[in-house]
Amino acid sequence: MNNKRDYYEVLGVEKSATEAEIKSAFRRLAKKYHPDLNKDDPTAADKFKEAQEAYEVLSDEQKRAQYDRFGHAGVSGNAGPGMGGFSSYSTGFDGVDLGDIFDSFFGGGFGGFGGSGRSSSRKVRGSDILKKVNLTFEEAVYGTEKEFNLDVIENCEECDGKGGKGETTCPTCHGSGTITSEQHTILGSFLSKTTCPDCHGEGHTYKKKCEACGGKGKIRTNKTIKVTIPAGIDTGGRRKITGKGGPGENGGPNGDLYLEFYVKEHEYYKRDGNDIYLEIPLTITEAVLGCKKVIPTLYGNVSLNIPSGINNLDKQRIKGKGIKNESTGSTGNMYLIFKVLTPKKLSRDQKKLFEELNETDFDDKEIKEFNKFTEKNNK
Ligand SMILES: [Zn+2]
Ligand SMILES: [Zn+2]
Repeated sequence: MNNKRDYYEVLGVEKSATEAEIKSAFRRLAKKYHPDLNKDDPTAADKFKEAQEAYEVLSDEQKRAQYDRFGHAGVSGNAGPGMGGFSSYSTGFDGVDLGDIFDSFFGGGFGGFGGSGRSSSRKVRGSDILKKVNLTFEEAVYGTEKEFNLDVIENCEECDGKGGKGETTCPTCHGSGTITSEQHTILGSFLSKTTCPDCHGEGHTYKKKCEACGGKGKIRTNKTIKVTIPAGIDTGGRRKITGKGGPGENGGPNGDLYLEFYVKEHEYYKRDGNDIYLEIPLTITEAVLGCKKVIPTLYGNVSLNIPSGINNLDKQRIKGKGIKNESTGSTGNMYLIFKVLTPKKLSRDQKKLFEELNETDFDDKEIKEFNKFTEKNNK
């Protein structure tokens, strides 16, 4: 740590250098010593690191002030050697667009150079596909089997997905899959590697193009697939069909197909999760006197005794007559909601009966309490 060079000396600037001067000095050194650009000088990496460290301190107003007062000791905690290492070239250099410099040479990013190009031969998984499926209320409640016609892109069986027959070494790249070319730029000449255009990085070509797939290695077919939809599926519910999504590339697996369900509403049944609600219309006398009713449930009709004294919107539960959900294993209930219908038209006889009834005292506690409140309000 003691034999460290002065940061200003490293960057080759005056102690009074402006921010812009420091930045451009570092830019110059970075171009000169970046190990990806300078492969001849074995000390380039160390020089780059040294410049990186100096720039880190001098480009930061606060760190620079500390350094000016206390020297290396003032900033040693902040900028140790090797900080960040070489994996962080493209980060931590706010203001110095190293990325731009390299992009313009190699057509994109650091990763592309030195490796096998931008790896157009990398295995890529196909994309997932979402397909919306409409279901009737009954299909969703009881479960069903559905058939779907799908365009599926699969490996060509004829050529085993290779696109050709009779494998030979690619004459263009001699099997390496990449082509090295020299690029001349204002900063000098660079060797640049690109993926071979003839074999797309595979390193081999084929004597004969596969006729079945036209050399693509993939075939689009229309397939009918049968899907079992379990009882109890609801709107928004999904089912995954593995491997029936978008085609993978370069031997990568296909994506998955997701079916997303939309359940049509029923004319009478209302659904809340696994519970089923059904409105039961009652005449006023049925509500008053009680009655026997035939109730249509999801599992056939059942006869039910409705007690006397039903109010409008009263609820009654029929246990276990909701949806039997195969996915969760749970069963819902059925709820009857009574709707008391007050007649709008009465025959003369009916009217007379109601008038007679009206003369009687129903002895209703709620009505009596309310009448008391009305009286009190008048005073
Ligand atoms: Zn080639
Ligand atoms: Zn083929």
